[in-house]
Formats: sequence, structure tokens, C-alpha cells
Amino acid sequence: TDVSTLLLSRIRDVADYPEPGVMFKDITPLLADPVAFEALTGALAEIAVRTGATKIVGLEARGFILGAPVAVRAGLGFIPVRKAGKLPGATLSQTYDLEYGSAEIEVHAEDLDAGDRILVVDDVLATGGTAEASLQLVRRAGAEVSGVAVLMELGFLGGRSRLEPALGNAPLEALLQI
Ligand code: 5GP
Repeated sequence: TDVSTLLLSRIRDVADYPEPGVMFKDITPLLADPVAFEALTGALAEIAVRTGATKIVGLEARGFILGAPVAVRAGLGFIPVRKAGKLPGATLSQTYDLEYGSAEIEVHAEDLDAGDRILVVDDVLATGGTAEASLQLVRRAGAEVSGVAVLMELGFLGGRSRLEPALGNAPLEALLQI
């Protein structure tokens, strides 16, 4: 569609970042273009409404940049999922495996309610580890999952399969497939 073409045209490929052999998808040109940024947040807000979300969870850090305007546009609250040690209150935390080592993310447990339906928003789905851990946090907090919405899915990394068990019947929606 026209929106996909616009979004894709504003993503910059950066070779060998953050390490040799990786082609990093840089979304800063998209954020700097108000027409593209509005098209992106509008498309993600439409997913939030369509999947019946009651709150948006954004994943640090680019999931904050996208998730917050999506929440405002959809008329929903916003909940940050942060790297360990950044949230001041009582947290639930979840560790997950990386290629080398592990990582840990946290959420303020009291920001999620039992009746909530959560849409998790991020810029890129790569291996799916971060999104999977965030869904585990959401479910452990007693909330439901309305879906996962990303700008871009890097299909060759297999994130969709990794995410399937944690998604259950909830959809993974990617505006662009790479
Ligand atoms: P995963 O846990 O799916 O392997 O990694 C996803 C996380 O890493 C996301 O939070 C995403 O922001 C970041 N990420 C991984 N690869 C890229 C990339 O090529 N471009 C951008 N913008 N983010 C990436």
C-alpha cells in the first residue's frame, strides 16, 4: 500500500551496526518526517482499536517513542516495560536468553489490571526474545494480550515462531516484512 511504501522509504539501512555482519534498520529518518510518523502511529493505533486493547505496553527504548503516541491516539493508557533496574516501584521481572548471555526486563506490576487487554508495541521484531518476555510479564500480571504490533518484522530471524506459544490466539501484526 501507499503507507507501507512511505514507511519503507524512511527506514535507513546501517551496515555493520551494532556489530560486523548486522544490517541495522534505523527508524530515525521516519521519526523525523511528520507525515510518515503520523501514518505509522495511526496504523498502530488502528491495530490497538481493532484488537480491543485497553492499554499499550511499549518496550524500551524505541517502543516508547512509538507506543506513547499510539496510546494517546487510541485513547488508551501507556505502560513502559524497561530494562532491569530503571523502575522505582514494585516490579515484576522476566529474564530471557540472548545469543550470548541473557537480559532482564521489568514492569510496574500495579499498572496492569486483571481485566486489561494489552497491545505490546515495538519498532522491530528480530529474534522475538524481547517481545516474548514482555508477553510473559503481561500474563504473569494477570492481564490478557490483545496482540503484538511492530513496524517491522525481520522474518529471517524466526521471531514469529518463537513468539507463537506466548501469543496464544492473539495476533502478531507487522506493518512491514523484511
Ligand atoms: P529481539 O528481542 O526481537 O531479538 O530484538 C528486538 C529488540 O531489538 C527490539 O526492541 C528492537 O528495538 C531491537 N532491534 C533489533 N534489531 C534491530 C534493528 O535492526 N533495528 C532496530 N531499530 N531495532 C532493532
